[in-house]
Amino acid sequence: MDLVCLDLEGVLIPEIWIAFAEKTGIESLKATTRDIPDYDELMSQRLGILKENNLKLNDIQAVIATLEPLPGAKAFLDSLRQSYQLVILSDTFYEFAQPFMKQLDWPTLFCHKLIVDAQDNVTDYKLRQPDPKRASVKAFHTLHYRIFAAGDSYNDTTMLSEADSGFLFRAPDNVIGEFPQFPVTNEYDELRAFFDRAAAEPISP
Ligand SMILES: [Mg+2]
Repeated sequence: MDLVCLDLEGVLIPEIWIAFAEKTGIESLKATTRDIPDYDELMSQRLGILKENNLKLNDIQAVIATLEPLPGAKAFLDSLRQSYQLVILSDTFYEFAQPFMKQLDWPTLFCHKLIVDAQDNVTDYKLRQPDPKRASVKAFHTLHYRIFAAGDSYNDTTMLSEADSGFLFRAPDNVIGEFPQFPVTNEYDELRAFFDRAAAEPISP
């Protein structure tokens, strides 16, 4: 049995924080792990900015609901799910991803959770586990699935290594340069062809 694991942001939907920053005009929310490598520090900064701007979870979700998946993403997923089991592995939060998941017909998503108080303020976040993408692929392997994975960024590379076949999709040049072992594509049709080619290979005993 073959299972496809896909990253979410940059592969099927825009980068949520950047899109949200553009939509709200809050420039300081555009910082990513490339600007602030420490994830906890980056998230603390983001939560602080939400608070300063008095943005409750509902307000944030309302803005996110106006954003759309990347062009072609829905059709790609619909077709892919006819041939493969599919799980999306993301480092986003369920509460932010929800409006996109609705537009994508609720595919299976493993990600993290926000902590929200009684007044609907986002006060903290809970990561599901360390290195969650790799851990998920490892767990699926114990269920005897053959796994093909695709993602665009650093946080995907352990997932791509752990998978039976891993591919970079619309990755920035620095990631492509550092991980030359992964085939690269920018198009959904070609990514689908990569998966199909990997699926056609004989299963190693
Ligand atoms: Mg990504």
